[in-house]
Amino acid sequence: MSETHLAAPAKPLVCARNVYKRFGDNEVLKGINMDVNPGEVVVILGPSGSGKSTFLRCINHLETMDQGYILVGEEQIGYALRGERLHRLGARAIARQRSQIGMVFQQFNLYPHMTVLENIIEAPVGVHGRKRAEAEQLAYSLLERVGLREKADAYPRQLSGGQQQRVAIARALAIQPQLILFDEPTSALDPELVGEVLATMRDLADQGLTMIVVTHEIGFAKEAADRVVFMDGGVVVEEGKPADVLGKPQHPRTRAFLSRFI
Ligand code: ADP
Ligand code: MG
Repeated sequence: MSETHLAAPAKPLVCARNVYKRFGDNEVLKGINMDVNPGEVVVILGPSGSGKSTFLRCINHLETMDQGYILVGEEQIGYALRGERLHRLGARAIARQRSQIGMVFQQFNLYPHMTVLENIIEAPVGVHGRKRAEAEQLAYSLLERVGLREKADAYPRQLSGGQQQRVAIARALAIQPQLILFDEPTSALDPELVGEVLATMRDLADQGLTMIVVTHEIGFAKEAADRVVFMDGGVVVEEGKPADVLGKPQHPRTRAFLSRFI
């Protein structure tokens, strides 16, 4: 008789609870709850100003949340439990946490005076203390993965926007992050360059990377996301499988938002 092995329920890689953030009088995040499982691709949709970037920035220590917590793996963003008490982490511990999270922005932010290869090895060598030869080897394999092996010695200005963004993706992967955050990675691109970046992201999704992607590319959400989260006014309004949230949205605000794309 064969044994049946039941997979243990995955423990979320990211667990955000009751996250609040305000800028002065402007309460931007009003109690965000979100779980992301290892290997999951979560697409966050929502109107401009709904707090999507702020939420990603809280995950990556670019903002400090006011209330609530975010766990990434075993660690809480910004805090450590010592005895019964939570203590704010120091700069070093924060740098270590950040170094496990990759981020790709709308503006690619490549260093203009460095070649593609130098851009990619900068963090592994400078932050993680990897040996240069080892970092270069990884960089070449990442460039292969994003289809730009032959551009290793080019400077960013010699590349199209789409190519620059693919380099930025390779750079984010070079720290071998456990999680990668994308904030509107195709919004600054000419329409004809969007497809190549989305194709690269789709490959990464297929390879099992854990990704949180803020985008207005509904097609990408439909095809690549395991889950779609709709945010509005600093809260999660609705979430679920792409076919459900995109195909039969339950909340009027989700419907109103999606009707713009039809
Ligand atoms: P989204 O990414 O969904 O468009 P954001 O998170 O960028 O939304 O912004 C949400 C709100 O927070 C906006 O009203 C924006 O003006 C405000 N905001 C974002 N960052 C800052 C900041 N550093 N200082 C003050 N207000 C900010
Ligand atoms: Mg934004």
